[in-house]
Amino acid sequence: MQTHLMTVDIEDNFILEELAYKEDWPKYEGQVVENTLRILSLLRKYKTKATFFAAGMVVERRPELIDHIMRDGHEIASHSYWHTSLKLMSADELEDDIKKSTEVLSSMTGQKIIGFRAMGYSIPEDETAFYALLKKYGYKYDSSKKRADGGGCQTIEKDDVSRVFPSSVNILGLKTIFSGGTYLRWLPEFVINKGFSQYIRANQPVMIYVHPWEFNKDQPKRTVRLKYQILQSPLTFSTERKLNNLLKKHKFVSIKQYMEI
Ligand SMILES: [Zn+2]
Repeated sequence: MQTHLMTVDIEDNFILEELAYKEDWPKYEGQVVENTLRILSLLRKYKTKATFFAAGMVVERRPELIDHIMRDGHEIASHSYWHTSLKLMSADELEDDIKKSTEVLSSMTGQKIIGFRAMGYSIPEDETAFYALLKKYGYKYDSSKKRADGGGCQTIEKDDVSRVFPSSVNILGLKTIFSGGTYLRWLPEFVINKGFSQYIRANQPVMIYVHPWEFNKDQPKRTVRLKYQILQSPLTFSTERKLNNLLKKHKFVSIKQYMEI
């Protein structure tokens, strides 16, 4: 049976300007823990372990998140410290952010942190320098990049710092990511299922990624740009239902378990 990859990005609504204007951020405090607990209980129901990419500043504010996640035996990886675009950082800012998130997470967990994921696929232009930095801070894999061709079924590209890609489906001559975030919320289940079949045929794992806020339709009304009001509308929050169905049908593990690092 093909095993797939389950990942979660630990961040809250209030740290994304797309989701809420900065002046409204205080309204959203307090949701990340309860939303993460929903994901943890769903994973427990299916005895599934996942990789949790944690934004350093979020878990520093709510350290109980790390306790909850570790108590269930999941892997903790880094989702940077500030959860801002890595593309917009200078070389020094980038190194500071990677260093700080690594230090915060390894001291909170008492473990080596070996996985990294940039916010919103914002991998820096100089990829060679970026991977060299990750290697310097002990990382074994990175999940910040979409595949250049947008398709194919190769999920992991082995290297000193291996690359782990989100999954794309070929449908009606089009290729689209289907395995997380907005894609997973908006695409109908038959498209997601088709994606799974394509990966299973190729003996490759699908890499799912979800966010705690997608598990909570009960959110304060947001005043953001219309595009984001539509894309991020709680009416589209079908992630919990879809993930439940996927967990029922398929076996998932953390990236660390899959790569046997
Ligand atoms: Zn994120």
